[in-house]
Amino acid sequence: MPAFKVLIVGAGPVSLVAGHCLAHAGIDFEILERQDDFDLNVGASTALWPESARILDQLGLLEEARTLRIPYHSKVCIHSDGSLISRSRMLEAVEELHGHPWMLFHRGDLVDLLRRRLPESSGRIHTGKAVQSIQTTDENATLTCADGTTHTGSMILGIDGVNSTVRRLMTPKLKSTSTGMNMKTSYVGLYGHSAFIPGGAMEEGCFYETHGPDITFQVGVAAPVDRCYFGCFKRLPQPITSTNATQKTFTEAEKDAFAASLADVHTTTTLTLRDLYSRAQWTHMAYIEEGIADSWFSDRIVLAGDAAHRMTPNAGLGLNCGIQSVVVLVNHLRRLLLQQPEPGSEALMGVFRAYEATRRKPATEMVKVSATAMRAPAWRNQVWRFVDQYVLPRIGGDMVVLSGSVFRLVLYGS
Ligand SMILES: Cc1cc2nc3c(=O)[nH]c(=O)nc-3n(C[C@H](O)[C@H](O)[C@H](O)COP(=O)(O)OP(=O)(O)OC[C@H]3O[C@@H](n4cnc5c(N)ncnc54)[C@H](O)[C@@H]3O)c2cc1C
Repeated sequence: MPAFKVLIVGAGPVSLVAGHCLAHAGIDFEILERQDDFDLNVGASTALWPESARILDQLGLLEEARTLRIPYHSKVCIHSDGSLISRSRMLEAVEELHGHPWMLFHRGDLVDLLRRRLPESSGRIHTGKAVQSIQTTDENATLTCADGTTHTGSMILGIDGVNSTVRRLMTPKLKSTSTGMNMKTSYVGLYGHSAFIPGGAMEEGCFYETHGPDITFQVGVAAPVDRCYFGCFKRLPQPITSTNATQKTFTEAEKDAFAASLADVHTTTTLTLRDLYSRAQWTHMAYIEEGIADSWFSDRIVLAGDAAHRMTPNAGLGLNCGIQSVVVLVNHLRRLLLQQPEPGSEALMGVFRAYEATRRKPATEMVKVSATAMRAPAWRNQVWRFVDQYVLPRIGGDMVVLSGSVFRLVLYGS
């Protein structure tokens, strides 16, 4: 009888952390990724909060991660004309309050670290493997890829992103909706990275956030790597509920038109989006989905990362949430395998059930906090407009938000 093996679908950052956790737990695994190679220029920035830093520490990755992060001290909130709303040392305070820093990375650097340091990574990560179908029996699970190859393991861990194939394939068994995720899309975003602009227009160590009716921008100045990262988000006239619409690929012309429509909006006190977009090195435009999968498991299949819970990016919680989820899953799995090295489907379902029971509530909370972090600076309603401009700056602004007390006050709408 072959040893227990996890087949992970997708090689995004959550999958790679799952691989590290499995390796530490002594559980065999393989990762199947549909892309042929990894372009480390792709992606904007990614922030990890202290809870993820602790996990990196346990995985032996924190020391190197600290050398790759871009240091920040202040958050600067501005109006769309560049005038100041508030300035706080929120980002510096994270480490003082929680013992670990808020760590912002070039996404490619973080992915590279996770991949390079994964034990036996070259033998375990298989690229060019787009998973197309799944077969499960009481003994095992088999994946078939677009290139005709099949891969058999004990269970499948679907970490294949918001439009997860694994979720769609397992959903018919659940007789649920067509995608298995009740998704809503209220915002569209243009994000990427540009060249750093010297001369004081971009203050080193500052994270700028533009607030205004129906828009919110974020810009992280990354002088040590000669870059700045930006995300520009705009509310849609009507929310989209169909998942197919959110799979849209925007053309270069559509990106240019979106950037042109917001060109005069300030990204720092003195620079506008025009200044950043004209120096862009990589950009992407996408609908920004939010939602939680109806069910996170079936038979020998379980979901994690954006495939299970997807949130808006302003609070920088999506990846953090996925990391926490895979830690919980692997801990439950390890406990089972210590008792039963060759568990049947029912025993595995028990693990998946316990995992979902532990993680669904905090993930739902993170989706809501992220929703508020998007809607508040975009002045989704008059309450937020008033609170954002007049109340928060007087009571400590983002330092109060950091303490968590503000998010709990708020209703979030479309
Ligand atoms: C602009 C922006 C900024 C963000 N900033 C932050 C931040 O600062 N902090 C944070 O915590 N989160 C952030 N997020 C969210 C974060 O990026 C996601 O939560 C995270 O990438 C999810 O990781 P994942 O591994 O689940 O999915 P993904 O990163 O989407 O990876 C999925 C992988 O699966 C592969 N795949 C898909 N289908 C198949 C298939 N059929 N077969 C094989 N492989 C397949 C894909 O090619 C991909 O490599 C941000 C998101 C955006 C859009």
